Amino acid sequence: MALIVQKFGGTSVGSTDKIKTVAQRVLKNHRQGNRMVVVLSAMSGETDRLTGLALAMQHIPDQREMDMLLATGEQVTVSLFAMAVKEMGGDAVSLLGDQVAIHTDNMHTKARIYSIDPDLINKHLEQGKIVVIAGFQGVTDSGDITTLGRGGSDTTAVALAAAMRADACEIFTDVEGVYTTDPNVCPQARKIDYISYDEMLELASLGAKVLDIRSVGLAKRFSVPVHVRSTFSENIGTWVVEEDKIMESMLVSGITYSKNEARITIKQVPDQPGIAAKVFLPISDAGILVDMIIQNTTDGRLTDMTFTVLRRDYDRAMELLKKVAADIGAQAVSGDESIAKVSIVGVGMRNHPGIASTMFQILAKEGVNMMMVSTSEIKVSCIIAEKYTELAVRALHDAFALDKDNLPVEEAE
Ligand code: ASP
Ligand code: MG
Repeated sequence: MALIVQKFGGTSVGSTDKIKTVAQRVLKNHRQGNRMVVVLSAMSGETDRLTGLALAMQHIPDQREMDMLLATGEQVTVSLFAMAVKEMGGDAVSLLGDQVAIHTDNMHTKARIYSIDPDLINKHLEQGKIVVIAGFQGVTDSGDITTLGRGGSDTTAVALAAAMRADACEIFTDVEGVYTTDPNVCPQARKIDYISYDEMLELASLGAKVLDIRSVGLAKRFSVPVHVRSTFSENIGTWVVEEDKIMESMLVSGITYSKNEARITIKQVPDQPGIAAKVFLPISDAGILVDMIIQNTTDGRLTDMTFTVLRRDYDRAMELLKKVAADIGAQAVSGDESIAKVSIVGVGMRNHPGIASTMFQILAKEGVNMMMVSTSEIKVSCIIAEKYTELAVRALHDAFALDKDNLPVEEAE
């Protein structure tokens, strides 16, 4: 008898009818002889709505009270789901994070899970019930309700699967799985059958939105096989698994893009120890994340520094930088908000040189200029002008033949 954790996101439980459909599906799996643990998000739009209510009360909402409020979204869906199952003649019990208990630290609105008690869940499973658990929430040692940060239900599901040693963690969503790239940009995009944790981590951090990145890190740490699939079809989706479980990996598995970043250049700064620290300290003190950083090698006296920040932090970063520039005697600060980051990801790159240069050639052939490049063992990212994003993505997808299904696929069980 397999133990399966299934998580359904907000669009999958966005109305009473949809909750009934999901309940039917879970019940079917249960009747086939599986033990079922279900994790639900709030109805789509609900967490935003609750956030709006909080902002109407307090300019900067109290974080503890915010968690009290946000946790109610998931309480609605889990209780309705249990009712739906009972109406269909099955048995289910809904549980909140603190009832389980899902123990977290006390970082309200972005808490981290540190342990989960499997006892109560096991007791209900032994009685033949479907156990339905509110995603996105937990409880501190002192009994306060916490939430895990937006999109946190994926993490709840993977953490439960790890704690319960489940056979699989299935994340149901409104797409068929993880795609080679965004199908809206590139109609030839193909659903990926198997992808490694590391590739998924890169894709998630580079802009793919299908899985919350924290849940992928957790899945990797505890070797939880994750199956991303559609709520609205019976099709097999994408399995996120250990690298050695994949028969043959592709050179490039996926292409992502993000239009969330902006570039800042600080010109003609003294090339001497301590300057980078002076430039980046005020930025990090302001809680601004820096992504790529490039510093030119020069004759040794003056140099240029370029880096990227999230677009929403651009104005603040520019303001801080102008002050720093005056302090350290830099010549000028300039920036560009209309950039995009296009990345290729694949574990095959580890053993095959030349993937980056192929990428550069493809972009060159399309007349796309690269402003910055960064690499890791399994990815290459380029900063280009935003208006070329779609062109670049399509050209790369085509050139690396991602539309061809050339991965030997074992039949998923
Ligand atoms: N309801 C929460 C959110 O909208 C958690 C989740 O859906 O994963 O962010
Ligand atoms: Mg989500």
